[in-house]
Amino acid sequence: MRRENRSMGRNRIRMNKQSYAQEKLKECGFDEILIIKTDKITFDEQVYTQCRRNTCKCYNKNYACPPLNGTFEQNKMRVLKYQNAIIACKIMSIATSAEYRKTQSIIPEIIKKLRNQLEDKGYKILGEGPCEICEECAAIKGDKCRFPDRIRYSMEGSAIDVVKTSMDLNMTYNAGGGKIGYFVMVLFNQEQL
Ligand code: SF4
Repeated sequence: MRRENRSMGRNRIRMNKQSYAQEKLKECGFDEILIIKTDKITFDEQVYTQCRRNTCKCYNKNYACPPLNGTFEQNKMRVLKYQNAIIACKIMSIATSAEYRKTQSIIPEIIKKLRNQLEDKGYKILGEGPCEICEECAAIKGDKCRFPDRIRYSMEGSAIDVVKTSMDLNMTYNAGGGKIGYFVMVLFNQEQL
C-alpha cells in the first residue's frame, strides 16, 4: 500500500502541465477540450474595438478591459508569449430565460473553480468579463492596479475572435436548439508541474 502511494506521488510529479490542466477542465465539467498551439488563435482588432460600445459598462473602467489592458498588439503579445493553449467549452441551453439565468451563475462559478486550481501553478486563464479580483477595480478611481501579476483577462477583451477560432477548430459555438458553447482558454508553456 505504501509502495503504491509512493508510485502515485511520482506519477503526479511527472504529470506535465498539459495533462494536469486537461484533468482539471474535465473535473470542472467542460464538454469539449482541445489542445492547440497559440498560433492557431485568431485575433481581430474589431473584437478589441467593439468593447468601445461599452455594453458591459467596463470600457475604460477595468485594467483587464480595453483600452486600459493595452493596445491590440500588446494584448496579442500577452497571449502569444505562451506557446500552448487548451481551449474548452461548456455547452448549455439558453432556450428559456430560466436556462439563460442558470448559465449566468454556472459559467462564472466553474471558471472561478478552474482559476483557483490552476492560477498559482503558472497557467494564465482567459475567461469572460472584467477582472473581479477586487470588489471595485482600482481603475475606477484612477489608482494603480492592486495585483498587476494576477489580473484576470477575458478572451474577447484580449482581442481573440472566439467565434472564428472555435469554428476553425471544429468546436461547438452554436449547438442548435437554443444550446451554445461557453469558452475558456488556458495558456501555458510546456514544462513539468
Ligand atoms: S486586480 Fe483589482 S485593481 Fe487590478 S485589474 Fe483586477 S480588479 Fe482591477
